[in-house]
Amino acid sequence: MGRKVYIDGKIMDDTEAKISVFDHCFLYGDGVFEGIRAYSGRVFKLGEHLERLFRSAKAISLEVPMSREDLAAAIDKTLQASGLRDAYIRVVVSRGVGDLGLDPRKCPKPSVVIIVGTIELYPEELYENGLAIITASTRRTPPDALNPRIKSCNYLNNILAKIEGIRAGVMEVLMLNQWGRVAECTGDNVFRVSGRVVETPPPEAGILEGITRGVVMELVRDAGLAVRERDLTLYDLYSAEEVFITGTAAEVIAVTKIDGRPVGSGKPGPVTSDLRARFRKLVTSGGPGAKTG
Ligand code: PMP
Repeated sequence: MGRKVYIDGKIMDDTEAKISVFDHCFLYGDGVFEGIRAYSGRVFKLGEHLERLFRSAKAISLEVPMSREDLAAAIDKTLQASGLRDAYIRVVVSRGVGDLGLDPRKCPKPSVVIIVGTIELYPEELYENGLAIITASTRRTPPDALNPRIKSCNYLNNILAKIEGIRAGVMEVLMLNQWGRVAECTGDNVFRVSGRVVETPPPEAGILEGITRGVVMELVRDAGLAVRERDLTLYDLYSAEEVFITGTAAEVIAVTKIDGRPVGSGKPGPVTSDLRARFRKLVTSGGPGAKTG
């Protein structure tokens, strides 16, 4: 029982797992990845994650060297080998080993790495009281430079914003896009609640279309509220009744302070709490959303 790693067909202990320094994912961040959760031995939304992985790969002209079915089987096998029932699964497809120089043609064989381990979650106290965030001065990468819809192995843009957050003593950071509109947080999507309407920026705002974001949009509809994608400004967040963020690691968590200003009452609101409860029920019940595939 413990962390296991799959590299190009072989499963090994984490301490044995090594890749070449000439791998272009290491040299240039030339690769794509996914972060997935398993709950009670079931991989959550595996089909959606694989879909996004293959789309990301396609967008950078990288051919995933195995079929979706084989990759799904490899993920399952690595999960079984770890003995973990609640796990965090990182899938990386790298351009592979080449030489020094950007040319991807120098990398004849892409590599597939699957890491199965545990996840570090926000402390429970933050789910009860909400998260304080700040707005980063670092803008999200413009979609016409490198579209944030591609979940690429180059996360420096997000890391620069994360460093701003660390210096400010907060655990997540809001990023605006090149037009000054709300994009997303460094590893989470953002939503606002006003009345019976829940809003989130559209993909064209330059965001990663989170799998959790998609699930939560469905849960909003199930709850009988309206959900809408709309360009949002900081004003829209400052003036919202509730703000929350979503992500594979965070699930659904209230944001109760932005740039030192309390959001709404300054406590997690009823819509956020209801959506969090619905999300927890979905992942713990093994309902349709929790099936493999
Ligand atoms: N935005 C960014 C930049 C992320 O890295 C993530 C986490 N993968 C998300 C949003 C949330 O996406 P998901 O719900 O698929 O984890």
